[in-house]
Amino acid sequence: MKIYVESDVEQGKAGVSRIAVIGYGSQGRAHALNLRDSGIDVTVGLRPGGPSWQRAEADGIKVAPPARAAAGADIVAILVPDMAAPRVWRDIESSVKPGAAILFAHGFNIHYGSIQAPDSIDVILVAPKGPGALVRRQYEEGRGVPCLMAVAQDATGRAKARALAYAHGIGGTRGGVLETTFAEETETDLFGEQAVLCGGVTELVTQGFETLVEAGYQPEVAYFECMHELKLIVDLLHEGGLAKMHQFVSDTAKYGDLTRGPRVVDESTRERMRTVLKEIQDGTFAREWRAEYEAGMPRYKAMMAADMAHPIEQVGRELRARMSWLRTEQQDAA
Ligand code: NAD
Ligand code: MG
Repeated sequence: MKIYVESDVEQGKAGVSRIAVIGYGSQGRAHALNLRDSGIDVTVGLRPGGPSWQRAEADGIKVAPPARAAAGADIVAILVPDMAAPRVWRDIESSVKPGAAILFAHGFNIHYGSIQAPDSIDVILVAPKGPGALVRRQYEEGRGVPCLMAVAQDATGRAKARALAYAHGIGGTRGGVLETTFAEETETDLFGEQAVLCGGVTELVTQGFETLVEAGYQPEVAYFECMHELKLIVDLLHEGGLAKMHQFVSDTAKYGDLTRGPRVVDESTRERMRTVLKEIQDGTFAREWRAEYEAGMPRYKAMMAADMAHPIEQVGRELRARMSWLRTEQQDAA
């Protein structure tokens, strides 16, 4: 697989001098600040009076309503929540000039057809493999978070050069830019967050916690074991894969891992992972989530409230309050 780096960027060919960034959340703020510091003319598009407007102004960034920001931009980056993006698109569509590019950090709306771009514009994707706070901090430190890039529609013949120029502007070429497709980015991203990263890990943690507590162990001890210590293991995996984790845990832990792990997560789990993937591929998940969102998210809110009321959250709050050194990446970056 080719990994694009700084020397692959053809600034002239890309024809990118003005960029509009719509949305000023996790990704939007990081992209806007990095692009500006890379010497690009950036305007952030926001709803007048919305909470992000003041923050963007305080950061010294030009701000305008979305349609005004989009008018005349070479690239319009749509960095609002995926469910809000189709409505935002309807507001700005007529302001995006023919020959411009629209850019996403996740392929969801293009891949599932909830945004349909006219033939006259490029449709591209630049997805940093990390949260916005990290994208900003790595850039400030002279490094960059690796990015995925993709082209869904190349109206100008310059779509890929533009995606690369944008990735370069946010620092991505320092970390390396990998080429993918909207389908691959969207489907793997959804699968990862559902089966492994968010859904898989939190179920593993809470089910482990519940198993210990129902067997009569103290919730505080169960919390440290199943939630708190996860970070140590994840950091080792992140830095050096399975090999580094094995270097730092005991032989007893390794033997337990090798013999018991595959009994907890087994072929039946794999079968359900395949089903979850199928629902992503055939659009079932996207339709279900869109319908839930349009209905005002009643199930989502109820399930979220139940998650937040879980005993692991209560005991966790009390224990974390005693560990003042615990700070999140987001807080570090703010
Ligand atoms: P976010 O929720 O942090 O921020 C969204 C911003 O959009 C808000 O700050 C606000 O300025 C604006 N906004 C919110 N609701 C709106 C509405 N109804 N109408 C108009 N504007 C509205 O979003 P994010 O996490 O930065 O996600 C943006 C895109 O980046 C998404 O496509 C997401 O999938 C993608 N992405 C996110 C991450 C991440 O780590 N957060 C990583 C990679 C890709
Ligand atoms: Mg969960």
